[in-house]
Formats: sequence, structure tokens, C-alpha cells
Amino acid sequence: MDISVVVPLYDEIESLPELTSWISRVMDENRFTYEVILVDDGSKDGSWEMIRKLNAGNPFIKGIKFRRNYGKSAALNTGFEATKGNVVITMDADLQDSPDEIPELYRRITEEKYDLVSGWKAKRHDPLSKTIPTKLFNAATRRMSGIDNLHDFNCGLKAYRSAVVKNIEVYGEMHRYIPVIAKWAGFTKIGEQVVEHRPRKYGKTKFGLNRFINGLLDLMSIFFVGKFGKRPMHFFGALGTISFLAGTIITIWMIVDKLRAIAKGIHYRDVTTQPLFYIALVAVILGSQLFLTGFVAELVARSAHERNKYQVEEVI
Ligand code: UDP
Ligand code: MG
Repeated sequence: MDISVVVPLYDEIESLPELTSWISRVMDENRFTYEVILVDDGSKDGSWEMIRKLNAGNPFIKGIKFRRNYGKSAALNTGFEATKGNVVITMDADLQDSPDEIPELYRRITEEKYDLVSGWKAKRHDPLSKTIPTKLFNAATRRMSGIDNLHDFNCGLKAYRSAVVKNIEVYGEMHRYIPVIAKWAGFTKIGEQVVEHRPRKYGKTKFGLNRFINGLLDLMSIFFVGKFGKRPMHFFGALGTISFLAGTIITIWMIVDKLRAIAKGIHYRDVTTQPLFYIALVAVILGSQLFLTGFVAELVARSAHERNKYQVEEVI
């Protein structure tokens, strides 16, 4: 099979007939063999009944239904597991992404050998309150991930080589960072394609302003887990040791200083009236806390089920 299209959807009943018939039309015109996997993320508006109807009319349109709403990442992850195509395309259900982009995306994966091609909504049809934070976001993600050629990490329209989706895991709200996850997994040929972005035709957006807070936290954890997930002690242990040592040295210095003063018979103020004492105290406590955190994290990592899961590309 050439292409699997994965569409996560939550209450998008009005868009589905138009979306699927458009996708089928593009596929037929280009003579692709395909499947469309509609992942119903716990819709309450009858989307699933619509999917049943569409499936009855065209068996290449398939559906997966969650019992409740788990979020876009969960829907994508589940859709990915079901794909059979050599190239996997993801797109939103709301008709903001155009299926006309599919042939070009397909060509870039198969001919130009990209692992992942991400859409770039160069001209967006979204309010400023969304586009400005998004710009900042993408800049931060570019810096932290080192993927400096992407302008739009969170674009719903993306194409992947099948191996990519079979070897990465998307959870929580990590769908915003799939290119970063792919890069950490060793899929480094990541490209971009300017895509048309259309105004939402039916229904309304499922993500409010909290997307930016969650997005930022996710960015930090993805970065941290990617870098230190398998060796947490190298992070916490190093910081903890530095802090603990600094506190110890200050404490020893204060004791020596006081003993010297006593020996010389000079009046010396109480250690508890010195700011340095409190700094030393905090440094020692913080240091041992950090160290212990590292140790516990190391134990967690060691007993993690996936501690020895690596990306093996080929064996001969
Ligand atoms: N979506 C989903 N589960 C959710 C929220 C959203 O599957 O919990 C789907 C939604 O139906 C749409 C896509 O994810 O197909 C993108 O959502 P939306 O258009 O609301 O996001 P925006 O375009 O505003 O970023
Ligand atoms: Mg949308």
C-alpha cells in the first residue's frame, strides 16, 4: 500500500464527508493505493456513526473509536500503529489542511528520501493571539532541538516514512513535537513544505490558550528526557555534588574562622548571624536533595521496561 492517511478527530462530524471524499479523489487521480484511518477520539456528536456510513461506502476508509477522549497525541499514536502504507500522512479533520498537498508530500518521502516532511502554514488563518505565541514557540523549539530548518513544528499535516511512525511513541500532548521525537529516535532527514492553510469551516478549535503553558512544559520535559532520560544521575548528581561541596567548604571555612578568632581571643559574632551560614545550609540541603533525586531517578530508569530499547536500523 502506498499511503496511509491518519486523521485524529474529536467532534468533527460536519467535516468528515467532505474530507474523505476529497482525499479519495486525490488518491484516485494519482493512482495511489491507500487507506484513510479516522481515529475518533471519543466524539460525542455522532462522528462515529458518520465514519461507519463512510466506511460502508468506501472500504478504504477505516475507523478506530476511543471509548473516551484521550487527546490528539493518543489518537495519532493509535492510528500510527494501525498503518500499513509505506508513507504515512497525518492531517487534521477540520479541513484546515488540504489533501491536495498529499502527492507532493509523498514524492518528497519516496523520491527525495526524507524521513519526515512537515507542513508549514506560511500564511495562517488564525487569530493573532494564536500566531504570535506560536512564533515564539517554534523559535524556542528550533533552538532546543537543533532542528533549525522547521518553521512550524505543530502543523497537523505531515508525511512520514513508515519506519518513523512505527518507531516513535507520541503521548500526552507531545504531538506538538513529533519532529523532535523523531530526531531523538535517529530519524534526522527532516524537511519542510509550505502548505495551504484554510480557515476552519465547521466546528470549533479544541485547544484553548492553555496550549501554550502545556506546550512549554512539554518542550522542557521532552528535551530533558531526551538528554538525560537514560542517565539522570549525570544531571542531578553533578548539580547535587557541586552544591553539597560548596556548602561543605563554606561551613568548614566558617568553623576554621571562628576557631582562629577564639584562639586569638578576639570577639567573634555567632555563626547564626552570618548570611554565609544560611547560604551554606541551603547549599548542603539542596545538594543532598538533588543527589538523592538523581539516585532515585537512576533506579527508576534502571528498572524501566524500556531501558534497553534502542533504534536498530539494520542487521546483516
Ligand atoms: N483533536 C483530537 N482530540 C482532541 C482534540 C483535537 O483528535 O482531544 C483533533 C481535532 O478534531 C482536529 C485536530 O485534532 O482534527 C486539530 O485540532 P484543532 O483543529 O482543534 O486544533 P487547531 O487547528 O486549533 O490547532
Ligand atoms: Mg484546526
